[in-house]
Amino acid sequence: MRIGVLALQGAFIEHLDVLRGLGVEGVPVRLPADLEGVSGLILPGGESTTMRKLIDRWGLHEPILELARQGAPLFGTCAGMILLSKEILDGDEPVFPLLDIAVKRNAFGRQVDSFEAEMDVPLVGDTPVHGVFIRAPTVERVGPDVDVLARLDNGRVVAVRQRNVIATAFHPELAGETRFHRLVATMASEFDEPREGAGRRRHPTRRTAKAHPEGGR
Ligand code: GLN
Repeated sequence: MRIGVLALQGAFIEHLDVLRGLGVEGVPVRLPADLEGVSGLILPGGESTTMRKLIDRWGLHEPILELARQGAPLFGTCAGMILLSKEILDGDEPVFPLLDIAVKRNAFGRQVDSFEAEMDVPLVGDTPVHGVFIRAPTVERVGPDVDVLARLDNGRVVAVRQRNVIATAFHPELAGETRFHRLVATMASEFDEPREGAGRRRHPTRRTAKAHPEGGR
């Protein structure tokens, strides 16, 4: 099983390192061809405005949306969360409107550009998650189909999940926190081989379908 890490800009090396530590093969994704055979994708922190330009320039927009539509897990951290949001309150157009949330960029103000915090995230276990916030966004609106995974002590929502898409406003990968990546790896292996009883749904548009070239046209 291979998990892609969008490697256009930003903190992608750290995600690849966490995956390696878990014994999962991480693939840096720079071009559409790099997405071949990946069962999940991580969108790292960095600068969302730069990343959106590079996503368009390298033709990654449609193939990434397609991967998500097929049900592969997507996990965005910080700028990655912004890229996955349906609404960006600063007026930017959405990139991959997969999470029914509204985010505010750089929401913590200049004097606290960066900070660390502990949060309860029952989805990943009993021990609190340690997160690093770097010019982080916050989630200002959460749609009805979105699960809130974590809040700060002041109540601000900083991690969410909607079906196969997870996002955190913070960087777990900079704090030695590996449980989100484990979860993504588990979801990716289930995407690869849906379990008995999970509806026995094969993923009809997956590789098997793509492997049949429409020859002769
Ligand atoms: N402030 C950045 C943005 O708006 C995100 C920062 C980060 O990813 N650490 O894109």
